[in-house]
Amino acid sequence: MTRTALVTGGSRGIGAAIAKRLKDDGYNVAATYAGNDDAAAAFTAETGIKTYKWNVADYDESAAGLAKVEAEVGPIDVVVANAGITRDAPFHKMTPQQWHEVIDTNLTGVFNTVHPIWNGMRERKFGRVIVISSINGQKGQFAQVNYAATKAGDLGIVKSLAQEGARAGITANAICPGYIATEMVMAVPEKVRESIIGQIPAGRLGEPEEIARCVAFLASDDAGFINGSTISANGGQFFV
Ligand code: NDP
Repeated sequence: MTRTALVTGGSRGIGAAIAKRLKDDGYNVAATYAGNDDAAAAFTAETGIKTYKWNVADYDESAAGLAKVEAEVGPIDVVVANAGITRDAPFHKMTPQQWHEVIDTNLTGVFNTVHPIWNGMRERKFGRVIVISSINGQKGQFAQVNYAATKAGDLGIVKSLAQEGARAGITANAICPGYIATEMVMAVPEKVRESIIGQIPAGRLGEPEEIARCVAFLASDDAGFINGSTISANGGQFFV
């Protein structure tokens, strides 16, 4: 039986690597994105993976989009809540808008992505919920009060879902990537990026494929007894 996987924010960066890996592993895969049509079209042309556009911050849009994916691709067995944004500013300069945009996308977005398909997973007695959190949700980060709050909140979501879903064959786990070479990180000024690399014992940024491998494992039957966990993939930068 071929399982269906959905990756939010799967058209670029870490999400694209996850979507490709799951396709290579034999899943039916769908990926979502927010608005960058060119990147999504290029991704579909390269991989053959269908993309869907909706804003994860909006519950009704998410529910409608998820229903469309389930009708066109199949009932979602594996959901990877990966879509995320940053709106960095030191706390004294952070605007309510910067706060709310990040909370709505990175935290409420996870609720909006999982809640509409949760009952289906319960009825089918199988599900894998995998949330892409961040090292900065574990340790906090200068100028990221908003982002760190969401990524720490994501860990609370999976720990709670793990308890609610276990008897229904659903696991919920998080991955906390350290700094990964995606557009999000490459947009940081080079000097800052060099100082970040200096803090990573591995002496390099991570690759999106290294996060995709963690997802592939958590999605697999081999990971059936792993529930409510966090995998830290950060080159040794931070230990919990
Ligand atoms: P990118 O900026 O490269 O890609 C983000 C993806 O999310 C895009 O597909 C984007 O769509 C989509 N997206 C953004 N906002 C929304 C929204 N409101 N609704 C739907 N889709 C949306 O991000 P990364 O690959 O770097 O990051 C992926 C995840 O990993 C994020 O959750 C991030 O916080 C986390 N992470 C990243 C780290 C890193 O070093 N890169 C480190 C730790 C965690 P579109 O192309 O249309 O904008």
